[in-house]
Amino acid sequence: MKRNRCSMRIGHVGIIAMIVALGAVMGCSTSSTVRQVPRNPANGPIMGPLTSATPAALPVSEEVMFSGPPWCSPRPCVGLSAWKQLVSDGRVLGGLVIAYQLVPDWRPLAQRAVQQGTRIYAQPLAPGLDGEFRPADNVIVINSSILGEASSVIGAIAAHEVYHAATIGPNGQFANAASCVSNELDAYATESHVYEVLRRGDERTALSASLDGLIQQWHARQLREKVLVDSSDVYAPECLGGKIPAD
Ligand SMILES: [Zn+2]
Repeated sequence: MKRNRCSMRIGHVGIIAMIVALGAVMGCSTSSTVRQVPRNPANGPIMGPLTSATPAALPVSEEVMFSGPPWCSPRPCVGLSAWKQLVSDGRVLGGLVIAYQLVPDWRPLAQRAVQQGTRIYAQPLAPGLDGEFRPADNVIVINSSILGEASSVIGAIAAHEVYHAATIGPNGQFANAASCVSNELDAYATESHVYEVLRRGDERTALSASLDGLIQQWHARQLREKVLVDSSDVYAPECLGGKIPAD
């Protein structure tokens, strides 16, 4: 399945023998019954275009951003103040904030992405591609087709891309294919961990079901298979410099 990616290329690394099983492109159905953190309140962010200049180092100050069930009660949810300038969509902000509140070990990644001024947009992407990090622009793009998902789903997808942003950095490059694949595996592990904490059990979409499956793969130590086999149509071009022919 196509899922997430970071949009960069590295050089061809030679002949890679691999059994390729292309997964079905996953639909991103939406549901009106899933729970969402409210949209960004008044004074929403003012965003420049995708390629606007990266701001200087931003502070990582925190503030209360949402309150109320199911995620932000009894404790209100704290997020990073700079997100109000860096995140273009209130639904994505909601996902980020509940991840920040409920997954403390993810916070340093979020803080690093903020410090380096990584912007987060919601825009249409190719079907089945939930999000991507673009190092050249220091931008994360979340596929606007998933904005109807529960905040738990959006938060997990965003957490995956924030992992890329924090570990690759603006204009970052991988040294080789192995480091590219390794980074992807860690991003999926992050996504699994975050969704396992955030999910409420009432998410009922194809995407939430795939995240449930991802958690199982993560616990079964099968993420490498997911990246190299099930999603090879995405990650072979990303990490190996060219598409692996299926036979
Ligand atoms: Zn990724």
